[in-house]
Amino acid sequence: MEGFNWSDILGNEEKVGQIREMIKSRQFPNAVIFSGLAGIGKKMIAKVAAMSLLCESDNKPCGDCPSCRAFMAASHPDYYYMEPDRSKANPMIKIDQVRALQAEVSLMPVMSDLRMVIIDDAELMNGAAQNCLLKTIEEPSGLSKFILTTSNRSRLLMTLRSRCMIINFERLSEADIARGLDLRNIDNAAEIAVISNGSLGQAIKLAENDGLQIRSDTLDFLESLPKLSIEDIFSKGQSLSTQPKENFREWTNNLQKFLRDLLIVNVDIEKHYYYNRDLRKRLSKLHGQFRDSAVFDMLHETAEIQRRLNSNANLELLIESFFIRLKKSIQK
Ligand SMILES: [Zn+2]
Repeated sequence: MEGFNWSDILGNEEKVGQIREMIKSRQFPNAVIFSGLAGIGKKMIAKVAAMSLLCESDNKPCGDCPSCRAFMAASHPDYYYMEPDRSKANPMIKIDQVRALQAEVSLMPVMSDLRMVIIDDAELMNGAAQNCLLKTIEEPSGLSKFILTTSNRSRLLMTLRSRCMIINFERLSEADIARGLDLRNIDNAAEIAVISNGSLGQAIKLAENDGLQIRSDTLDFLESLPKLSIEDIFSKGQSLSTQPKENFREWTNNLQKFLRDLLIVNVDIEKHYYYNRDLRKRLSKLHGQFRDSAVFDMLHETAEIQRRLNSNANLELLIESFFIRLKKSIQK
């Protein structure tokens, strides 16, 4: 079964090696924070670590002992997983959830000699919930181990952070992301990997939302902008406004990245500073068409439209006036 072994984890080899070593030598701390960008595999690493810590065999996780079997069947009595309700507009981990956890960990483990708790996106606990968790972690029984994952460590209380060992995970390499996409039978893996910012989760989202298509449409637009007539602008605005607002938001994210790339495209710097380095030739050509001041103006307008997209204003009108302002930026 996939996702239940160390070999299923992509990237971060060194950190994963340290974690395995701590488990093997029984040095795994009582409370750990797995910190790093969203979509790089923190939760999967936490799960394999939890399964290993509960496993009864030497080669952890063996996938075969009663504990491992129960874990894989999602019925391990000593494993507790907590996450925010992501169906909500503002997902939160509520203090009631933490209190339920507190009651649970006060009991003796049933199957293993310890209890494993994973709290995913732990920064989505408010202060009261975090304080309640801190008390739970500090309970002296010592029979529970906690793994908190977070993509925004600064939102965890200092008191909580200082009580935990912190392990930072890095962005994934393009090769690892491409491999992760291949494993999921996703097309254009190598291309998507370039623009996924080191996050497999982001790459999967891009693939699901036609991210490459949106990106290509954005660059086509930017290239044609100097020649666009007002009629062209209205018809482009109309066609974009028939799509979901989220697609247009992604479109503006792409525009922002292209504009940032334009500012550095002719500067001799490390390639990883570019968002779209696979398109560097086209960008280099485009660079001659816009003055830097025009690019800055367009960046400003893009930030402004992203802010306005949060309102309930008519999307078509928003897009059209945005395009007209972009056009003005390059005519100044
Ligand atoms: Zn086992």
